[in-house]
Amino acid sequence: MTDAPRGVSAARGGAATETPILVMVGAPGAGKGTQTVRLAERLGLPSVSTGELFRTALRDGTALGEHVRPYLETGRLVPDDVTIEVIASRLAEPDAARGVILDGFPRTRAQAEALDHLARRLGFRVTAALYVQVELDELVRRLSGRRVCTGGGNHIYHVDQRPSRAEGICDIDGSALEVRLDDRPDTIRQRLERQLPPMYDVIDHYTGTGVLRSIRGDRPVDEVTEELLRSIAARASAA
Ligand code: AMP
Repeated sequence: MTDAPRGVSAARGGAATETPILVMVGAPGAGKGTQTVRLAERLGLPSVSTGELFRTALRDGTALGEHVRPYLETGRLVPDDVTIEVIASRLAEPDAARGVILDGFPRTRAQAEALDHLARRLGFRVTAALYVQVELDELVRRLSGRRVCTGGGNHIYHVDQRPSRAEGICDIDGSALEVRLDDRPDTIRQRLERQLPPMYDVIDHYTGTGVLRSIRGDRPVDEVTEELLRSIAARASAA
């Protein structure tokens, strides 16, 4: 049982032929990844994380993986043309036909504009951009303790705030947990300094198109999820 009948069908608003895209916006460590997984389950929509797609490609040793390796290792953004191509192929997959939740894309104004074009071309529409807002100091604290599952399911832990039951092992699928290459302390601040200005451009973009919703992310995970679901429903009924 999901919340999809209300949240998703209503998200189509007056344009029944357009498939909804929900965009998650937030700094690294804001909890976007965690919330995306929860929303995907509640709404019955696939979540698409560009970071996860890149990390999977890297683990699988594909050509894409080798191409993006230097960017992931240093926390730099992968070039827009590569990233947009990855999203375009993902949106063309059958499970995206009822809508998707995007996590980590778009991250620049150019990507946001490219997504609008791509969406129009493929019969989608960005119906809500959900900005999960967290202060800088809290972001640094969260990022330095983050551990991610190597099993490919985007299961995320924190050494203090959300530890796994057995140290270093994922509760959900038993895979090993690891510190992401770009969560090493020396790259965290660099990563934030690089990624925040373009994120603010993305926020401006969606403020301009009228779909931005801001949600305070410095609260318990469940509260943030409920607030996001309310926001999606409100956005949908206003569409
Ligand atoms: P994330 O898991 O979203 O933090 O992404 C991890 C890494 O993947 C980032 O540090 C970038 O190197 C790359 N990446 C993910 N999404 C994008 C994007 N939209 N544009 C460019 N690079 C991205």
